[in-house]
Amino acid sequence: MSDEMTPMMRQYRQIKSEMPDGVVLFFRLGDFYEMFFEDAKTAAPILDIALTRRNSVPMCGVPFHAVDGYIARLIKAGLKVAVCEQVEDASAAKGIVKREVTRIVTPGTATEDSILESGRHNFLAGVCCAGDVFGLALLDMSTGLFFGEEAGSLQILCDIIRRYAPTECIIPAESMNDMSLRDFLAGSVSGNLTSGEDWTFDYDTARDTMVRHLGVHSLDGFGCEGKRAIVGAAGGVLYYVKEDLRRQTGHIRSFALRMSSEFLLLDEATCGNLDLVPLRGQAAKFTLMGTLDVTKTAMGARMLRDWCWRPLVELRKITERHEAISVLCGNRPLLANLRDSLGHVRDMERLIMRIGSGMTNGRDIVAISESLKSVPSLRGQLEKIEDGLLSGLGGSMFELPELVALIDKAIVDEPPVTVKEGGIIRAGYNAELDELRSIAAKGRTWLAEYQASEQTRTGIKTLKVRHNRVFGYYIEISKGQLGNVPDNYNRKQTLVNAERFITPELKEYETKVFDAQDRAMALEYDLFMNVRQAVVDETARIQSTAGAIGCLDVISSLADRALAMRYTRPVMTEGDVVKIKGGRHPVVEQMSDRERFVPNDTELDCVSNQLIIITGPNMAGKSTYIRQVALIVIMAQMGSFVPADHAEIGVVDRVFTRVGASDDLARGRSTFMVEMQETANILNSATGRSLIVLDEIGRGTSTFDGISIAWAVAEYLHNNESVKAKTLFATHYHELTDLALTMQGVKNYNVQVKEKNDKIVFLRKIVPGGSDKSYGIQVARLAGMPQEVIDRAKEILANLEEGELGETGQPSIAKHRPRKSRDDAAQMDLF
Ligand code: ADP
Ligand code: MG
Repeated sequence: MSDEMTPMMRQYRQIKSEMPDGVVLFFRLGDFYEMFFEDAKTAAPILDIALTRRNSVPMCGVPFHAVDGYIARLIKAGLKVAVCEQVEDASAAKGIVKREVTRIVTPGTATEDSILESGRHNFLAGVCCAGDVFGLALLDMSTGLFFGEEAGSLQILCDIIRRYAPTECIIPAESMNDMSLRDFLAGSVSGNLTSGEDWTFDYDTARDTMVRHLGVHSLDGFGCEGKRAIVGAAGGVLYYVKEDLRRQTGHIRSFALRMSSEFLLLDEATCGNLDLVPLRGQAAKFTLMGTLDVTKTAMGARMLRDWCWRPLVELRKITERHEAISVLCGNRPLLANLRDSLGHVRDMERLIMRIGSGMTNGRDIVAISESLKSVPSLRGQLEKIEDGLLSGLGGSMFELPELVALIDKAIVDEPPVTVKEGGIIRAGYNAELDELRSIAAKGRTWLAEYQASEQTRTGIKTLKVRHNRVFGYYIEISKGQLGNVPDNYNRKQTLVNAERFITPELKEYETKVFDAQDRAMALEYDLFMNVRQAVVDETARIQSTAGAIGCLDVISSLADRALAMRYTRPVMTEGDVVKIKGGRHPVVEQMSDRERFVPNDTELDCVSNQLIIITGPNMAGKSTYIRQVALIVIMAQMGSFVPADHAEIGVVDRVFTRVGASDDLARGRSTFMVEMQETANILNSATGRSLIVLDEIGRGTSTFDGISIAWAVAEYLHNNESVKAKTLFATHYHELTDLALTMQGVKNYNVQVKEKNDKIVFLRKIVPGGSDKSYGIQVARLAGMPQEVIDRAKEILANLEEGELGETGQPSIAKHRPRKSRDDAAQMDLF
């Protein structure tokens, strides 16, 4: 570093030392942001820019106008970025320019469009534990959505947090010592686990942070006064974004406590097995969300995702949604009109965040106004409806006519991206601005006239009045004409073919033009900031409007799909019965263009149809069928219509699915151990109101092991009074059909196949009764195995099948062996 750089380096080191570890500092130097030392070494390869050295200090830099793109790349790589600006005018500064970190961007708090996906929230999570309770707070900085949930165990915390897929998590520093919590959280947030100072999570401090931010006297209104874990987590999160990251938080206006008991609990494995929503980077097409999503707005898309993985359990709320869909389905012109109006609404939640944060421009303001213009038509249509939910949504929307009128009057139709260079404010809005603009314009006319008169006076036809940033206005005369230059011209610059001059008159007018232009720009900026403030003042009502529009969008999207795909309204009950006529798999029926989808019936209850065993050869359609039942139940409880001719659904409290290990390879968690852990979790957590879907349990080990485990699991689900959940069990172990011989709640079904000239024809129809064989040998023959092998396999199969029933007529596989008494066993161990 050269000598005069030293004070600046001192300033750099000072600012850097105030930053938390692992933050890359973007240090503003003129038109660039520079990174130094380790920061430069880390960032240069990610940003694909040259790493240079000055006096052996490694450094790299990016141009200021493209900074967002570079920040986005570092954030996507899991880094944090602090932006340090020059906070005084470089020309006005005495000594070194004052600099300050104005914001720190982290993966969980990013608001840049280049990082965010419009249809999904980007959550920062906070976790705080108090006694046995885990508090989880989730904040989407980009929309201001802020809420919390309690979890009674690490397992449940795990289920909840993974579904929200936060991109960053903050916990008290002391919790970092809790290995199991730390490892689990680090795994859930792809490594972006940050520790915050312990005291910020302390109940009293955290409560204070919340109360002050939300402008309330107590947290009673949010239902969380006294809830140490939740409040701790929420306060910790809020402190982190406000103080540590120095971010604008004006758009975070409320906090909601979500009670787990209000939602159908779906663990992570279930969400994945049923392909409810696309995971990061996964195509939406083959998921339930992809099938149902024809939302018109980003708010709607985000809410639909939430509905998909957080179905309801309260009958009243579920039927309220069904009722609303039913109204829209019954009035197609209304539905079409609503969807048309929704199409004009922009992402109001993220717009209001940007406008509030100050990193905004005229385009955001116009977009808000354009969106608000759809409200009168939406409200007008909703007012005529007698449905509770829909008219309620109309009531939560605000037209804000004065604000819309102000924006229309003040801001031009297509404002520039910049806010300090003018061109934003409409003519006629402000008299002083109009005056300044006309002075500037007159100046320009004068200049044109001046050029013409000087051409005549000097007789130089090619004389030109021009303008550049260095000299302002000047007169340019080509080399050949220099002899005719009058005395009052002052030479400024010599070029190859021409010379440039200025005159006192020219400078005088230039000052007038520039002055007027400068003042106009400054005034425009002030006027713009006033309009912006008027929008910010309406944040709460705009957010309410955006939320209601999102909900209406989801309902109309579901109604549209119901009509397009012939879904029907399910009959919801508090009972135990799940009865489906002509049910279809919502996603598979979309894909099977080769083959028409064959509908199937289902009957489940807690008495004689509690455990349904579905057998049939590979590829028959077992997995599709059992998933379709789970999906129909989930769709019904999220408030959607369902792909069935008729469905009666007794509300369930949890849906569990487990897929046998070898079917699960694609998801990369294929060990038999995981399979058993998840099965154990089901057996330990299911209740009589749960729905369990087991697909090929026991497949991850040897056949005998597998059958034995599958058999014992089925027995437990059937016999154990506290579990006794409705269960669908698909298996290619046709031996399991023997379960029905002795257990009255077990029913056998199989997927019909026809053997035709050595070929298997799949009929896809679920029919009562067990399948009598696994058809493995037929498949082997189709695959071209030598006849000798096929014949020998048949022989061995016959041997194995002999003696399937024991002397008493019980299936021999199920017989209990005499056990040694406990005492005997203990004695044996001792001696
Ligand atoms: P299994 O679990 O019995 O091996 P799958 O459920 O995986 O069989 O089904 C195999 C394929 O059969 C599916 O990918 C799907 O394309 C098709 N299929 C399944 N059920 C049906 C159905 N009811 N109607 C039409 N095609 C179906
Ligand atoms: Mg299968």
